[in-house]
Amino acid sequence: MTLNSPFEENFRLTERQKDGLAKLGLKTSRDLLFYFPSRYEHFSERKNIIDLAEGDKTTVFGEVLEAETSKTWRKKMAISEITVGDNTGLLNAVWFRQPYVAKMLKIGDKVALTGKISIGKSGFYVSNPSFEKISSYEALGEGSMILPIYPETVGITSRWLRFAVDRILKKVGLTELQDPLPEKVLAKYHLPSLASSLIYIHKPQKESDAQAARKRFAFEEIFFIQLARLKQRAEVEKKHSYAVKCAPEELENLFSLFPFQLTNSQENSIRAIAEDFQKNHPMSRLLEGDVGSGKTAVAVAASFMVLNSGLQTAYMAPTEILAEQHFKSFIGYFSQLRRPAKIGLITSSGCKKFPSKVNVGQPTPISKSQLLKWVENGEIPILIGTHSLIQESVRFKNLALAIIDEQHRFGTGQRALLASQKSDKIPHLLSMTATPIPRTLALTAYGDLDLSLLDELPQGRKKIITRAISPSGRDSAYEEIRKEISAGRQAFVICPRIDEPDEEKINALNVKAVKEEAKRLKKEIFPEFEVGMLHGKMLPKEKEEALSDFKKGKTNILVATSVVEVGIDIPNATIILIEGAERFGLSQLHQLRGRVGRGEHQSYCYVFAESKSQKTMERLKAFVEGKNGFELAEYDLQLRGAGELGGGKQWGISDVGMEALRNIKMVEAAREESQKIIKDDPEFKKYPLIAERLKNGKKIHFE
Ligand code: ADP
Ligand code: MG
Repeated sequence: MTLNSPFEENFRLTERQKDGLAKLGLKTSRDLLFYFPSRYEHFSERKNIIDLAEGDKTTVFGEVLEAETSKTWRKKMAISEITVGDNTGLLNAVWFRQPYVAKMLKIGDKVALTGKISIGKSGFYVSNPSFEKISSYEALGEGSMILPIYPETVGITSRWLRFAVDRILKKVGLTELQDPLPEKVLAKYHLPSLASSLIYIHKPQKESDAQAARKRFAFEEIFFIQLARLKQRAEVEKKHSYAVKCAPEELENLFSLFPFQLTNSQENSIRAIAEDFQKNHPMSRLLEGDVGSGKTAVAVAASFMVLNSGLQTAYMAPTEILAEQHFKSFIGYFSQLRRPAKIGLITSSGCKKFPSKVNVGQPTPISKSQLLKWVENGEIPILIGTHSLIQESVRFKNLALAIIDEQHRFGTGQRALLASQKSDKIPHLLSMTATPIPRTLALTAYGDLDLSLLDELPQGRKKIITRAISPSGRDSAYEEIRKEISAGRQAFVICPRIDEPDEEKINALNVKAVKEEAKRLKKEIFPEFEVGMLHGKMLPKEKEEALSDFKKGKTNILVATSVVEVGIDIPNATIILIEGAERFGLSQLHQLRGRVGRGEHQSYCYVFAESKSQKTMERLKAFVEGKNGFELAEYDLQLRGAGELGGGKQWGISDVGMEALRNIKMVEAAREESQKIIKDDPEFKKYPLIAERLKNGKKIHFE
């Protein structure tokens, strides 16, 4: 048995276990060692039943003597009840609304129950305790009173994982493993070695062992992501790009071309871009700004500098709807800027060009071959589109700038695809996002990009009036909404986010929620209005139809899931009603709110909470008081943890890594160390383990 040998060779596995392991992505012993517990059960306060006293918070080990499920007679609430005994006495345990508990615990099972002890008519009992089946009391290991709990799946229990880890540690040991983190770095930040950390994380003797191990793995992950990003950046900086000319004195002229006063942060961002353009290597910049903060104006200014230098810009949007929208705003801006430019649009549904001789003031459809010809000969200097932009058939004459909207990562590979085939130059990159993320995440996930923030909204913008509505306020909120809609406005209704481990199921449940809510609103609340729907199971054509009906005002209310088309712009929609608001992260609520407040009318955001708990109300208060997106993201990160950032998957960061994002010092330390290494030894000659790790990067979730 070695760390790389597949389980089948060393473990006798049932089919269910094989499936479970495959589902968890675990193939080898090594994989298992790096499959970390999500939490620990503490048994340090263990007591014998005879020693219990009312109010104790403690753990009892015992054998299940009775188990049954019943229902309360009034509310029909399911109750699971068991009785356990140790050699000193009997203890009852009850679980409310958890009928499955009695099915999981059978007579004869050995269990550990942890909870608060109460006294009732028939002696001591504990309600809703956490429980853990244990094969025998000794399974906890000598002295070890902390039991790791792993993310489980059908067929693979924490108990099996503990057993397997034990066996691997005994049979193979950790001597094969070499620590990829330099010793100096470990020493400097007091981080345990790889081998110690693996033992600590799977078999902690005390709480602080597990913490030290998690800290080390978090640091390691953040360090390697940053190293990978900085390496990419160093590669890009070696390349050449087109020189875009824009003297500082010309900038003021450029600013004055806009029909409004640019905000300070817009001006600063444009200045930073102009400075980047002066350097002879490609820009890599992230422009982060709330919805409505005016990112398009910055993109237009950058495109304008490029245009004036006789060069080309490509602007890529994530969906057709958004590409169309950007095309229209670019036309709007460029027809106002005294020097108009030809602008092309390419999506899989067709191509368009502006201006047009036939149809003054309007874009005209043109053939793809015509568009591609004009892009290749430079006649069309600005091309907007979807992913269609990076097809091979699209060739630019001299592409100097690539603008990317709302793509979580735009890899070096994609960037190279955009580069001109004839020259060795690669385009400057301006990546834009409205997703407000905390600084720690920006430093990590976007470690290869320079950051410009648009942290203020243009002047004169009407603030969206936000209200948190408790269950009793629902009717009067509907009345206010009715008034607005009767006055000609429109409303979005967002159904609550459903938490479910299974993604398929989430989707199905969300679709169901949307359909039911649309039906309910039409039937019971707003029979006089037209109610439309938008959800993930609709075909692209159906979605477009639903949106266009809403845009045209054919439907008054659009009921949608939270995931659909974040960037859509419907100025007449002035109300957004969010159901189950406590289930959303604040920054997500903030983004949803940004779908209104885009026109001349006063806009409203109603957040309906199902729970009145103080924590819920406090969070919603922070939201109502209208902090900007960055503050809300930081607030959520500190208050609810990294889970609120929408899951690490989209950033390529594991749960352990995401935990580290709460710790700015650690993230900065990882950055400092990775910068040092890149500067001192960019090819990692002195660090073969680092080189290897980065080469295998894909496996360990970078990119
Ligand atoms: P986003 O950052 O969400 O992409 P947009 O660029 O679409 O925002 O801008 C939103 C609206 O604000 C547009 O209608 C735009 O014309 C307007 N706008 C942008 N900058 C300013 C400004 N400095 N002053 C006034 N209005 C502005
Ligand atoms: Mg935008």
